[in-house]
Amino acid sequence: MAETFDVVVLGVGGIGSAACLHLARGGARVLGLEQFSLVHDRGSSHGESRIIRQAYFEHPDYVPLLLRTYDHWRDLERATNQTLFHQTGLILSGRDDSETIVGARLSATLHGLTLESLSPEAAHARWPAFRFPLDHTVEFEPAAGTLRVEACVQAHVDEARRHGADLRDHETVRDWNSNGNAVVVRTDSNEYHAKSLVITAGAWASRCVADLGVPLNVLRKFVAWFPIRSGEYRVSQGTPTYFFEQPHGTFYGFPSLDGQTIKVAEHSGGQVVSDPATVDRTRHDSDTERLNEFVAAHLTGIEPVPVRHSVCLYTVSPDQHFVVDLHPRWPNVAVACGFSGHGFKFAPVMGEVLADLIKHGRTSLPIRFLGLSRFTPG
Ligand SMILES: Cc1cc2nc3c(=O)[nH]c(=O)nc-3n(C[C@H](O)[C@H](O)[C@H](O)COP(=O)(O)OP(=O)(O)OC[C@H]3O[C@@H](n4cnc5c(N)ncnc54)[C@H](O)[C@@H]3O)c2cc1C
Repeated sequence: MAETFDVVVLGVGGIGSAACLHLARGGARVLGLEQFSLVHDRGSSHGESRIIRQAYFEHPDYVPLLLRTYDHWRDLERATNQTLFHQTGLILSGRDDSETIVGARLSATLHGLTLESLSPEAAHARWPAFRFPLDHTVEFEPAAGTLRVEACVQAHVDEARRHGADLRDHETVRDWNSNGNAVVVRTDSNEYHAKSLVITAGAWASRCVADLGVPLNVLRKFVAWFPIRSGEYRVSQGTPTYFFEQPHGTFYGFPSLDGQTIKVAEHSGGQVVSDPATVDRTRHDSDTERLNEFVAAHLTGIEPVPVRHSVCLYTVSPDQHFVVDLHPRWPNVAVACGFSGHGFKFAPVMGEVLADLIKHGRTSLPIRFLGLSRFTPG
């Protein structure tokens, strides 16, 4: 006989692991299904670090969700007794009229967030490790920082299990059906019955919700680690996280978490991937050229020769904003996808949103701007 649950969560990655926790904490009998191991490096939630910030240049409507997500990350740290979030502060460097600077200032003004404005010279004097283009403005956000991405997913997994969620790895969902009141989920080895389904399939979302009609572009993103001289760039010395928007591309990086390397990557660009399962994970010269140039130009004392790399996936929606809603046809199915390369910091608040949608059919958190109706003409 098929096993029964209250909710099946399809995909236990960054967002799905948080959904499992919030659903289980609310008393639901939760089954989480993951095609790979729990915490893996084939999707979008790996590679040591993620930026977290509040003065959100992408849109000020994200700020209330960010304030909530901060509370959740701190709660998760307390519950699991570890540091997940290093509040290093974030350097934003860009021209006065760049999307990053204009957008961050708008969010900060509208929501009363702290940003410190510095000239490139003053910023270099304060953080001698960084060189800033002379036509840039620097905004420093003290509340921002770095999340330890794998530890965050593991913490959600551990806490979800502690609250009774049944999380199964190496089990791929092949298809699902809903009649509006119940779902049947078939995997490569089992069939499950549940009242509701949450789809958090990351780069595989289009396959799991083919009928949404929202084109999602999966991009291959390359990140690299560069060696540091001992004692420099360490998170323990107060090195900030950093994000540079330049006319030819947007680059970002982190303080050293391991004391030996720093991770640097390009937010812009990336190659479209037709199948997330077969993405090219090897390193090519074209992957490193632009990164090496950025490192040589802006990070002092770093040999621009990476010693390690990783390939990760962005799943980009048409307007680069998340897609979080109930399925338009099935009120017992919730979907969260299209996180467009900036979703990880929101994982716990998205977990709360998804648990609300499944339990109450709505949420008091302000997610209307992320809904599916924006893609419906008229
Ligand atoms: C290089 C890089 C840098 C980034 N930097 C930042 C940053 O600084 N700050 C930030 O906030 N965000 C950042 N992001 C974005 C953020 O990491 C993602 O938005 C977020 O991790 C997406 O989580 P997800 O749960 O949608 O995807 P995933 O974590 O990939 O989870 C989806 C899961 O579903 C599973 N799955 C899919 N289909 C099936 C199936 N049929 N059966 C079973 N399991 C299935 C997958 O295996 C996977 O584990 C970055 C992303 C990348 C790639």
